[in-house]
Amino acid sequence: MPPPTLSKKLTSIQGVRLPGSPSTWKIDIHYPPNSPRGIIQSITPHDVSTPRDDSVPTPLVLPALTHPHIHLDKAFVHSARQYAHLLPSAGSFQEALSFTTEAKQQFTVPDVLQRGEWLLAESVSAGVTAMRAFVEVDHTVKLVCLEAATKLQEQWKDACEIQIVCFAQDPIFSTQHGEENMDFIQKALEEHPQIDVVGTTPYVESTIDAAKQNIDWAVDRALQLNKHLDFHLDYNLDSGKEALVWYVLRSLQQRGWTSSTTSKRVMLGHCTRHTLFTHEEWSQISRIIHENDLPVSFVGLPTSDIYMAASPEQKVPHDRPRGTLRVPEMIRKHDLDAVMGVNNVGNAFTPWGPPDPLFLACLGVGVYQAGTQDDARLLYECVSTRARAAIGLSSSDPSLSDIGLKQGGCSDFLLVYDRDLTGCGVTRPCGSVAEVVWNPPATVNREVVVGGRVKRSGFVCVQNDPNHPIYVYSEK
Ligand SMILES: [Zn+2]
Repeated sequence: MPPPTLSKKLTSIQGVRLPGSPSTWKIDIHYPPNSPRGIIQSITPHDVSTPRDDSVPTPLVLPALTHPHIHLDKAFVHSARQYAHLLPSAGSFQEALSFTTEAKQQFTVPDVLQRGEWLLAESVSAGVTAMRAFVEVDHTVKLVCLEAATKLQEQWKDACEIQIVCFAQDPIFSTQHGEENMDFIQKALEEHPQIDVVGTTPYVESTIDAAKQNIDWAVDRALQLNKHLDFHLDYNLDSGKEALVWYVLRSLQQRGWTSSTTSKRVMLGHCTRHTLFTHEEWSQISRIIHENDLPVSFVGLPTSDIYMAASPEQKVPHDRPRGTLRVPEMIRKHDLDAVMGVNNVGNAFTPWGPPDPLFLACLGVGVYQAGTQDDARLLYECVSTRARAAIGLSSSDPSLSDIGLKQGGCSDFLLVYDRDLTGCGVTRPCGSVAEVVWNPPATVNREVVVGGRVKRSGFVCVQNDPNHPIYVYSEK
């Protein structure tokens, strides 16, 4: 099955709105020699002498979206018929673990390709042009998920940049399969140069010592192979458990992993245990990271966290506190780099929610009580420019991570329309970033430009659309 058809290269997009501006603009795109991807050459006021239908609002252009953390191989298990017997019956974490292990025994390359394609199609049509995709490698699935991911990475490369994580979801330093799992991970790393990231899950090891061995090994191996590093870390809400983030930061310091010694970055995911930290502990994390120039980012995974991460203490039966990293506070109060990710879709770990980063930003408004216009811009950045920088695909300079499009910036855009989808002939305008975050538009009201080429919305396939922007294409 082919990936989505993209248009020829655009040299200009005319008659679009930009955040915070009531007038219309023209974005010119330049293609550096030998580069398939365009960059923004200039943004200038749109020549109003160019005729268009002013009765219909023009689209709003925003930076494209990013998945900084998504499990490609486990996506949409619930939508595939062959796993119908593994739909949740209790909905517990233990059941999710055992059902997923059972499902993994059935994984095949064509099956992962199909479910991965569902994920990619829905993500790209939502506006995603880059993703960090986790694929498990262990004694159960062997290299099946990795093989499928490398195929998808190649097939979809024009529409979405897929960064592959070779991921040890299972123990590699303990349990009866630890050694075998490690052998598969090593084999994968040796044989697949398409892998961009080493990922492990220290908390699944059976002892704290094995978890620390897991961390040290992953830091060493990622440094040695010059790859990014990504940990699923401290996924609990138990103040009695040691938080391993301190050990990770120490391990990075001891091995000299700094922003100046390597361009590769370190991501810490889940980290729900950290929501129990005091203000002083947060300040200490920030101080260690800044004083030692550690290129560390955090990713909050709220749809999974609020579903699965419950506090162990339940003295009052209905008192079930949830925990997920408070991303805006980490950025603003503690000067940490933090973003938001979808994690799982359509499986026992997270049966709810779409693979749409805007849905996450919207959820963030409620979860973080972040209702101002500034909050909305920050939440958008956390699933867009900041997420892209956190996975190492663009500069991590915070001044470049804001929502404004800039000359020299990449030509990956999300165009948001407010076309009538009600069938009632009624259209409510959607003109600001805040409105996009507070009530995300349907994906048929989104169009994506990736590397300077358009992936048209499904809307134009069924309806003649009079008011798309004026696209000017290159002759080549
Ligand atoms: Zn995950």
